[in-house]
Amino acid sequence: MKPVTRNPQPAIGEARAAEWIRPEIRALNAYHVPPASGLIKLDAMENPYTWPAALVEQWLDVLRDVPLNRYPDPTATALARRLRTAMKVPEGSALLLGNGSDELIQMIIMSLAIPGRCIVVPEPSFAMYRMIAAWLGMEYVGVPLHEDFSLNRAAMLEAIERHRPAAVFLAYPNNPTGNLFAAEDVQAVVDAAPGVVVVDEAYHAFAEDSFMGRLPENRNLLVMRTLSKVGLAGLRLGVLAGADAWLGEFDKTRLPYNIGVLTQASAEFALQHQDLLDEQAAAIRVDREKLTGALARLPGLQVYPSRANFVLFRAPAGRAEQLFSGLREGGVLIKQLHGSHPMLRDCLRVTVGMPEENAAFLETLARLL
Ligand code: PMP
Repeated sequence: MKPVTRNPQPAIGEARAAEWIRPEIRALNAYHVPPASGLIKLDAMENPYTWPAALVEQWLDVLRDVPLNRYPDPTATALARRLRTAMKVPEGSALLLGNGSDELIQMIIMSLAIPGRCIVVPEPSFAMYRMIAAWLGMEYVGVPLHEDFSLNRAAMLEAIERHRPAAVFLAYPNNPTGNLFAAEDVQAVVDAAPGVVVVDEAYHAFAEDSFMGRLPENRNLLVMRTLSKVGLAGLRLGVLAGADAWLGEFDKTRLPYNIGVLTQASAEFALQHQDLLDEQAAAIRVDREKLTGALARLPGLQVYPSRANFVLFRAPAGRAEQLFSGLREGGVLIKQLHGSHPMLRDCLRVTVGMPEENAAFLETLARLL
């Protein structure tokens, strides 16, 4: 008997996929996550610190009682209450939780997308705004930042006037540049935008500045946060705060039970130990300044000041790829940005790790320069 092959005519299968998959999806590159096994991982803005063993034991005790056979609380009521307090969400603002803030971006755009509508985003910025817009058939209008990566307020206002975007996304601080836009420029965008303005505060723990308090008087403002950068990237929990007129509609696009029982229980537990998360963030802020200073002392690098948990720097012309590979061979994984946007020519981004990880990175980089 002949062995059964699942796809005897792969070429025909490929042609068929090419015929049916939407051209805008075929044109995309999948979000690439490089293998990091065995490397010092300074590529993804994770918090390098874990919890003390005694706290891990307490957490495991909590998980022991979580009913895995039941669907989670669909609105995560207890967790939402804790998040409100922890994030100082103003009275009267609604909350919406996502499987990471990525999912919230998806829900927002899905709720707004109609052919002919667009989102406006300064660039370079977080890649998922553009990517998700492409998935959902929403046009994307990128507005270049100034050369120093500050917001080009005039260009933003002009783009808003011309394109009347359904949404504007502003990462505050911005990824991958690390800087915090001037609050008055962000406010000017909120005032001018006909649709919604999402201030993405993924790096809030390191920025010590926020638009959360401005929600009550800005009814088209939404503030987005995540637990990913404060030590819980593996949980996948994003938070959106703003007027119920928006969030109540976005909620209709949420897949039922999007926040699993383990995430709800673990995030609630973590927020009961907010002091530890705050201490870790404070240590990272101190180490960020040390790392920035040390990078600036290396020859030939241009280093950008950061209000996040990573630092952007520009390598000597034409050397970013070689430095990136040399670091990886030396056991340190960072992010290579050269080629991702014209303004990021020769740029690399390093996440603030533990002091010994930062030292290993600096030592290896110094050797390569
Ligand atoms: N917003 C910004 C600006 C980010 O940099 C990231 C992650 N790199 C996210 C949102 C997504 O975070 P998560 O989905 O882990 O909550």
